[in-house]
Amino acid sequence: MGEYIKTSVFDVFKTGPGPSSSHTIGPMKAALDFRHSVQDILSDTTLNDAAVDVCLYGSLSLTGEGHGTHKAVLGGLMGWAPETCDCDRLLALLDEPGRTYEITFAENPEKKILFTAANIHFEGNDDSLPFQNTVRFRLSEAGETVLEKEYYSVGGGFIRCKGEAEAERPDPPYGYSDMNGLRKQMRRTGLSLSEIMLSNEAAITGKSRDKIFAGLDDLIGIMCGAVENGLKTDGILPGPIGLMRKAQVLYKNSAKLEPGNGLLLGHLNAFAMAASEENAAGRKVVTAPTSGAAGVIPGIIFLLKTHYKAGLPQLRDGMLAAAAIAFIAKHNASIAGAEVGCQGEVGVASSMAAAFVAHANGLSMKQVENAAEIALEHHLGMTCDPVGGYVQIPCIERNAVGAVTAINAYILAAAGDPARQKVTFDEVVEAMMETGRDMSKKYKETSRGGLAVCCVSC
Ligand code: SF4
Repeated sequence: MGEYIKTSVFDVFKTGPGPSSSHTIGPMKAALDFRHSVQDILSDTTLNDAAVDVCLYGSLSLTGEGHGTHKAVLGGLMGWAPETCDCDRLLALLDEPGRTYEITFAENPEKKILFTAANIHFEGNDDSLPFQNTVRFRLSEAGETVLEKEYYSVGGGFIRCKGEAEAERPDPPYGYSDMNGLRKQMRRTGLSLSEIMLSNEAAITGKSRDKIFAGLDDLIGIMCGAVENGLKTDGILPGPIGLMRKAQVLYKNSAKLEPGNGLLLGHLNAFAMAASEENAAGRKVVTAPTSGAAGVIPGIIFLLKTHYKAGLPQLRDGMLAAAAIAFIAKHNASIAGAEVGCQGEVGVASSMAAAFVAHANGLSMKQVENAAEIALEHHLGMTCDPVGGYVQIPCIERNAVGAVTAINAYILAAAGDPARQKVTFDEVVEAMMETGRDMSKKYKETSRGGLAVCCVSC
């Protein structure tokens, strides 16, 4: 058995501005961390004629402007954090050509660094880097380097810093590194999936159960808020595509569909697209597991709340099951479009959502696994080809399709014979990683293949 998973539920589900956790949340966290490093050496530096230069690589460069990476980096350098930043102020950054920003430090008000768009360098791909999505910060005084740090945005808003070990977390009481291990722990202890997730979360983070529940309830509230805001808002999404929002119209027109399944699926599509459109507009969303895929689980939650009157305990159970799926996918493969294409983003989101519904509805662990496996299996090979580098086409509709697939996977698992299911979740995760390794770089968030080059009317 490999190293135990020590990811927190709140690492997977975290709040931040859209449109892309790899491009927005990750780089903002990296920039904020670099700022803290600058603060650590502030008393030793004059900051005379100082500059911070930021080099972006991989898809942070190739789709960086469309994904708002340049804005996120400046926000982080100014001390903004993804979970608390003002999305409107963030969106307005660097919109005026030639504008100079001041990076200031409350503890040393006389010291400041001037920053303009010219300090951001879009460097394209560099195959010598260990991870494609890299951001490098350099603080200089009179042209001399004072501090340099390199960060990797590894998907879902997770970052790593070159040469820095990740903070150690305690071992979970019910350790596992894949689905097989999780199943074994459940068999050995007789504990439910939720019990194992809660006990591990408490041990890893030191949070009480009440705090974990409060955190989950907050996330559920923010996800539902994204759906509600998306349904209330119409108009054109930012960027040159001129894409009109569709969720509101879809929601209204769903009433004309046949009552029952037509209405239900119409609403589910509209809910997922509403949250996804909020993400595309740079509004506050919850990564699930990424921002690009941040419509699938909110769509499912809103459906369960509005059509099935699901209460918080049921939804918390669903969140815990979804988190378990994201943990295993991230630990053994990837949730980064830049690494494995969209199968790791909307594919994993759909798999998480299928497990969410299955567990929230009280299905057995075998059925929960089957639902997650089926949903991911039928996203294998799905590429990432965002038109113009914007998380709009195909991303928004893809979230809706991922949510509907999750429901279908749940039905297949709930109504089928679990003993007849051949493929395990661990096998499909391995297949996703293999497929991702073989996938051309064109289809990994670079906007150099697929729809990104074929959609002539976009
Ligand atoms: S195509 Fe998928 S992976 Fe790529 S940006 Fe869109 S949602 Fe993310």
